[in-house]
Amino acid sequence: MSHTFRTHVIPLVKRAVRETDRVYSVLSEDRGKLELFATGSRKILSKLAGDMEHTGVLDVFVVRGRSFDRLAGAAPLETFGAVRDSYERQYAVLSMTSFLDRAVRPGERDGALFRLLQEYLAAVADASAQALADGRLVLAMQWKVFARLGFRPDLERCVRCRVSVPGAQAAFTIRHGGVVCVDCKIRGVALDATPLTADARTVLGLLLDAPLADAHRLFLGPSLRVATHALTSAWSLTHLELPAVTA
Ligand SMILES: [Zn+2]
Repeated sequence: MSHTFRTHVIPLVKRAVRETDRVYSVLSEDRGKLELFATGSRKILSKLAGDMEHTGVLDVFVVRGRSFDRLAGAAPLETFGAVRDSYERQYAVLSMTSFLDRAVRPGERDGALFRLLQEYLAAVADASAQALADGRLVLAMQWKVFARLGFRPDLERCVRCRVSVPGAQAAFTIRHGGVVCVDCKIRGVALDATPLTADARTVLGLLLDAPLADAHRLFLGPSLRVATHALTSAWSLTHLELPAVTA
């Protein structure tokens, strides 16, 4: 096995270790989530720390060790300056990367998740103030992340008996992961099932499947927005045992 490698990464979070060392948790394009230790002289560390501050995609050089992987160099490939210049945009990025740090297990290689995060950074950089303030973009990203991590709700077929559920009759069960038909609801097989309005169902479908770059077109009225945020939080707590990202 090679003792060094290069890869493209997006930094998720950093942690201080001892007095001067740091660990960077990063999502890599081809190796999943990695923990990279930055150790060395103060001069080397401050150079690395400066490079790792960029919001975006970095090309990193890593030395494999017996107990940890050491970050030996980093160069920005794609940076999103608009994110750095706005607290709202920084928050939208930091809250999502910190969620991903907790939600993604090391060793799960998922290039699509890397590309999704890359798209999200671009969308946050481009988003209107309104789209940032009401959380449309964060919601869309959150549901796409749920789906990539294996927690996609079934919006078409009853989660218990698999019949197709017509729009007007849909109830939704968070615990069982999707819509339930009238018969199953009457039989009480999903006790937490609550009615799902046609609008809420449409919104959920769009959050899951419309491109992130189109999230700004999604209009959520006040009550639908509150309901969607509540459903997102409950889904995250139930299935990932983590609080959802708030906007
Ligand atoms: Zn059913």
